Amino acid sequence: MTFDDEAATAHPGVRMLLLGRQGAGKGTQATRLAQLCGVPHISTGDMLRAAVRDGTPLGLRAKQIMDAGDLVPDEVMVGIVDDRLHLPDADRGWILDGFPRTVGQAVALADITARRPLDVVVDLVVDNAVVIERISTRRTCDGCGTVYRADDAAIADGTCAKCGGTPRQRDDDQPEAISRRLVLYERETAPLVDHYRDVGLLETVDGLGTEDEVFARLLAVVDARTTTPS
Ligand code: AMP
Repeated sequence: MTFDDEAATAHPGVRMLLLGRQGAGKGTQATRLAQLCGVPHISTGDMLRAAVRDGTPLGLRAKQIMDAGDLVPDEVMVGIVDDRLHLPDADRGWILDGFPRTVGQAVALADITARRPLDVVVDLVVDNAVVIERISTRRTCDGCGTVYRADDAAIADGTCAKCGGTPRQRDDDQPEAISRRLVLYERETAPLVDHYRDVGLLETVDGLGTEDEVFARLLAVVDARTTTPS
């Protein structure tokens, strides 16, 4: 049995949210944790980017909003997440990344999950200066969505090491859109931290350090919230 198999057995399903500023490392950490717990990583940003790539009606509607760093309307987002959480692979749990982003979305999520409520909400904390540096140097593969740093040797030849796609700077990772997104985060999303603290679901995790260090901290709080006391 590999370490990951063992760990997956030791970590049952989980229903959780990851909050945190853009660039806090939510996507990277959620992908890893989802794999370990055998649950889907549901990133609304990834879903919207896939819709834009596929040219669906949703993608056509969302593209301009996303490029400007604005938020897609709540009713659109709630519908997408409601459908996604009812797919069979979400039976054991899920990790939501990028949703909810407004109080309205949090209220709708509580309705959607009324029968099987959240186990934990993690706020991945990294301050503004660090996320601005991270976002402005990140490159996202246009084929598989893998995120790299601009100076990563794996993309030195201009192609993604995983799929051969092209790592690019996202339109919403340009300076103007970054500041718009951070302002919106403070105004619309940061209040959710207090909301989830008030209802006893919040855990705070320091997002500074290596990927492994942050992951170990995240796993410790998730384990504490999902392990049934004997
Ligand atoms: P992300 O990858 O999470 O940073 O999302 C990229 C962009 O997608 C955001 O800047 C928004 O324009 C849009 N988006 C993603 N999730 C949501 C959401 N829950 N509510 C509104 N807009 C969203």
